[in-house]
Amino acid sequence: VSRNKKRIIVIGGNSAGLSAASRAKQLNPSLDVLVIEKTPHVSYASCGIPYMIAGVVKPERMFAFSVKELQTKRGIEVWTNHEAVAIDTVKRTVSVVSNETAREQILAYDKVVLATGAKPVLPNFCVEEATNMFTIRTLVDGLRLHDMIQKQQPQKVIVVGAGALGLEIVEAFRVLGLDVVLIEKSNQVLPDVEPQITAIVEEELSTHNVVSHTNTTVEGVEYDDNRIQRVSLGVGKEPLPCDLVVFCAGIQPNVTLAEESGIAIGGNRAIIVNDQQRTRKLDIYAAGDCTETYHLVTKRSTWMPLAPAALKQGRVAGANAAGGHMRFSGVVGTTMLKVFNQQIAMTGLTIAEIKKANLDAEVVVVTQDSRAKYYPGNQPITAAVLYERNTRRLLGAQMVGMDGVAHRINVFTSALHAELSLQEIRNLDLGYAPPYAPTWDTVLVAGSAALKKAKPRLTN
Ligand SMILES: Cc1cc2nc3c(=O)[nH]c(=O)nc-3n(C[C@H](O)[C@H](O)[C@H](O)COP(=O)(O)OP(=O)(O)OC[C@H]3O[C@@H](n4cnc5c(N)ncnc54)[C@H](O)[C@@H]3O)c2cc1C
Repeated sequence: VSRNKKRIIVIGGNSAGLSAASRAKQLNPSLDVLVIEKTPHVSYASCGIPYMIAGVVKPERMFAFSVKELQTKRGIEVWTNHEAVAIDTVKRTVSVVSNETAREQILAYDKVVLATGAKPVLPNFCVEEATNMFTIRTLVDGLRLHDMIQKQQPQKVIVVGAGALGLEIVEAFRVLGLDVVLIEKSNQVLPDVEPQITAIVEEELSTHNVVSHTNTTVEGVEYDDNRIQRVSLGVGKEPLPCDLVVFCAGIQPNVTLAEESGIAIGGNRAIIVNDQQRTRKLDIYAAGDCTETYHLVTKRSTWMPLAPAALKQGRVAGANAAGGHMRFSGVVGTTMLKVFNQQIAMTGLTIAEIKKANLDAEVVVVTQDSRAKYYPGNQPITAAVLYERNTRRLLGAQMVGMDGVAHRINVFTSALHAELSLQEIRNLDLGYAPPYAPTWDTVLVAGSAALKKAKPRLTN
């Protein structure tokens, strides 16, 4: 392929990929930036899919930019329905196959940004195609589910996996008035979250008529007529009949292309990158859910597949691929979600991650008002603070409640970034006004309770 301009090929056209492409083109408009995306869509709101299913958001509102806008306004070339199938790091080419024509093209590159994301994990007994079985990752998955619900009007739905995605999709189905059974192999929903927090979430699910089976494993599915008719829950348990099954039983980094191209994969099974989002192969960058990232609390590599990090990493990868010098400092693992009327938010390490990191931790749980006690709309917030026993270092925080939870977690997030001690957290000058917070904000009360419980080694 003969060409005059330097070319960056971005593989994957969603959060990380488009953030990389946009930044590269912005920094150096003379570059030829080409995005390869295997589905028909780019720049779609994955995180909005549960709300699209619920009917809260219309499918046409699910795009940040159209292909046309990316091409005309940002000068980025986009090939949808094309899959990158190989990278030859010696010849410096990417092989791309059209999903429509099966035609293969070999494209020369100067730099590559891998942004291939993550993919759902399906149990190995799901061997056959079934028109009523779903995983949810891309907008294609979301639209297929949306379409199936409109056309086939299922009533009995089984959702497997009670992580964040499972709970969001359960809510969507209840909004549609479907009968939902939620199955989770762990002994609680949101398996890594503190039980005093998840108990409130479980109560909320029950209030909204979701039938939850924890400590329950799906052991098989019964097919008939290209459909899953029943889900088996093992010996001694009645199989459950269903019209629709959605597996939300975990995801893994999508690294087949990277691995086959000789790009180093780390212990978390994601692509190893440095803080400039460079892989260990010259001129190949990677960003988003396909990569490992640095955890600012454990000071180790982790895998944290979330949208804000994907966007920031994409920006760094794109800038550096275009000749800039940007760094991504790392994550603390902040997550938030809505389950009916409850807001759940967490940051830092969970107890499972603390154990894995061999840290000695304690947890303290408090309940405090979201607003002044007398002000309308006041609701309890339950907050857990996890800290290192001897150093009193904050390791993580989790909160649940119907008011003022989601954004309040970001105080703890900032504290983790700044490595504030429990004393410093307890003394933060947080704002007060009756409609927004009590005089002693939940964050201060939680920090104070943790200090009291921790060894009284320091005085203030
Ligand atoms: C239903 C849902 C809800 C979510 N909710 C939240 C939330 O509330 N908050 C949050 O922080 N995160 C949420 N996430 C996670 C968030 O969407 C991801 O972290 C983010 O999209 C990662 O961006 P990415 O670009 O790395 O990967 P992806 O979004 O997975 O994009 C990767 C793209 O690469 C394409 N691709 C893969 N391989 C190839 C190839 N070989 N050739 C061409 N194209 C390829 C894929 O088709 C895909 O479009 C949610 C995810 C889902 C699915």
